Amino acid sequence: MNDHFGHMTQSSVRRRALITGITGQDGCYLARLLLDKGYDVHGLVRPDSVPTTQRIEDRLGHRNLHIHYGDLTDPLFLMNLVRHLSPDEIYNLAGQSHVGLSFETPLWTTQVNGLGILYLLEALRTNPELKNKTRLYQASTSEIFGNSGAQSQNETTGFEPVSPYACAKLYGHHITRTYREAYGIYACCGILFNHESPERSADFVSRKITQAAARISLGLEDKVMLGNLDARRDWGNAEDFVELMWRMLQQDHPEDFVIATGIQTTVRDFATAAFQETGI
Ligand code: NDP
Repeated sequence: MNDHFGHMTQSSVRRRALITGITGQDGCYLARLLLDKGYDVHGLVRPDSVPTTQRIEDRLGHRNLHIHYGDLTDPLFLMNLVRHLSPDEIYNLAGQSHVGLSFETPLWTTQVNGLGILYLLEALRTNPELKNKTRLYQASTSEIFGNSGAQSQNETTGFEPVSPYACAKLYGHHITRTYREAYGIYACCGILFNHESPERSADFVSRKITQAAARISLGLEDKVMLGNLDARRDWGNAEDFVELMWRMLQQDHPEDFVIATGIQTTVRDFATAAFQETGI
């Protein structure tokens, strides 16, 4: 039996995880992974006038999945939630994830991508029990490398962000490392390169191409407009990458890792492969 916050009222060894951004691409795959591993999963969902839980619809009735409505930019709510849940693991995946949009909404992007993680870290720092118990994963991004000039990037490469999105994420990255080193909190950052899936939003180029290929093959459309076909990306699989997030929190000592496939593909080759799948 569970109380209001999903605590087991009988003694139990079930691990408890809080996922911010559970309605996003990575959040939905991570929720499935953790539920399959027997975790009690608590998801932060921001209130909206239309439901945003489509990606986790198949698990909404799961007895170990609990939804909490609130916003990552609300420190009082977050600190209260973390204190009451007392989670073993927190995965901070919530974010304004569009680089282009961050130029139009730099303040909001900074509040969500930069300050959100600070509130979670403060929730742990100010609670002696949680400070020593809860492990925290922060969703950093390869965008923080920006114009670093390096041919290939790894954990020792310097950062030269070139967008408000990357600047905010870099603050989140550094503050996470700072709290780890200053307060001994188990917190680590995954510096992830692009990762895709059928759950990727339609406004990212991978989904734009695959959805267009499907619609064109069905005769519903006759063309798709793309930008620079020679742009290269390291595209990984979101399902693989969320497994690596979980593994990062299972290490003996917290550490930051770059996650990538090491293979770059052009938009042209991606589009060619997608259209070949449909026989075009
Ligand atoms: P998505 O854009 O699919 O999901 C973002 C999630 O954050 C959504 O659940 C969204 O909620 C939620 N969110 C946004 N703002 C708030 C807020 N103020 N309060 C609470 N929740 C909020 O991103 P991905 O799943 O693809 O990525 C997960 C994280 O990893 C993001 O932080 C992203 O920046 C980062 N990242 C992603 C990469 C990728 O290739 N996918 C690469 C590197 C880093 P709603 O559903 O309501 O919009």
